[in-house]
Amino acid sequence: MRYLSAKHIFNGTDFLPENSVIALSNKNEISDILSISALDETLVEYFEGILCPGFINAHCHLELSHLKNKITQHTGLPKFAMQVVKNRTHFNKEVIEQAAFEEDCNMYKNGIVAVGDICNTATTISVKQQSPIYYHSFIELMGLDPNNSDKIITQGIELSTQFSNDKLPNSFAPHAPYSTSIKLIRQLIKLNANAELSTSIHHHESLEEILFLNKQKSDFDILYSSLGLTIDYFKGLSQTDYLSSLKTDFPLITVHNTFSNKEAVDAIINENLFFCFCPSANLYIESTLPQFNDFLNYHNNCCIGTDSLASNDSLNIVKEATIILKNSFNTFSIENILKMICNNGAKALGIDSKYGSLSIGTQPGINLIELKNNSIEFKQKVV
Ligand SMILES: [Zn+2]
Repeated sequence: MRYLSAKHIFNGTDFLPENSVIALSNKNEISDILSISALDETLVEYFEGILCPGFINAHCHLELSHLKNKITQHTGLPKFAMQVVKNRTHFNKEVIEQAAFEEDCNMYKNGIVAVGDICNTATTISVKQQSPIYYHSFIELMGLDPNNSDKIITQGIELSTQFSNDKLPNSFAPHAPYSTSIKLIRQLIKLNANAELSTSIHHHESLEEILFLNKQKSDFDILYSSLGLTIDYFKGLSQTDYLSSLKTDFPLITVHNTFSNKEAVDAIINENLFFCFCPSANLYIESTLPQFNDFLNYHNNCCIGTDSLASNDSLNIVKEATIILKNSFNTFSIENILKMICNNGAKALGIDSKYGSLSIGTQPGINLIELKNNSIEFKQKVV
């Protein structure tokens, strides 16, 4: 048995009373939370800083780790997407797997215990099988033409089966509202709901996306014509059609929300919806950040992701949390932000019974962090 204490202990949602102690079994399971007065103090390992649960990275693309420093910054999303499409296949499988392996190790070293990871391929399966990190793989699908949705789902099920055969938890993720027909979004969310699993979708990531969805001229016209794709299907759709397609009784993660205004935030929110922020990627691609103030009322529904190394220089969730802390201008409290990378992220992935909080009977991992100059600093992985 180990007894851990610190100046402050954050349990995933709140700070515990001073002098609290976490009792850990030999299997690193939390067996009790008690007051130091109930113990022989010499048994207690005391840490300077804040003890908190292992972190949840709610949005990543591990399979793009080999694209670090390969994609030009600040181009806007359509040009970014074109560069990723051009670059991602120019590498052999070993290079892609090695990069994924190294970043998986880095995430673990930096206190991440669970990841919501977008997958277009099976290349990360071997890394995930060996990793101490819990991965929920989101099999990402897209398709502009609703007539193709059944064919696309068949391909998605094939990829999903490869993950399932290796006992890797997974569900489906429609890519984004500008790339995926409402029919396909509805079908994928239904498949996930039948399996009682989370869904993820990129959402309001660029101004071009808003223009495109409002049927105004945008760089997506250039992207789709360069790919030889017709976008006629989108002409008759309304915002209401899109919002109604996202209704589900299970967690739905909208990723980025960079250009969501208050009206859009209020229109989409419900108890199962989680807004995932990936601020480094927003700065990398669009040179901007979400209007965090518009999300204040929904801080219990916000989580944080690193996105991929195609649009970030590290998969470090504490760095992302610090960017939000520094740029939300006191919108979010430190508790709000720590909750995003602990309990909220776990809820978004449907794993809150095991991760994201210091609850008796769980093995959430334990990190030591420190607050310094309005930054969150990761000190060490304690457990
Ligand atoms: Zn993404």
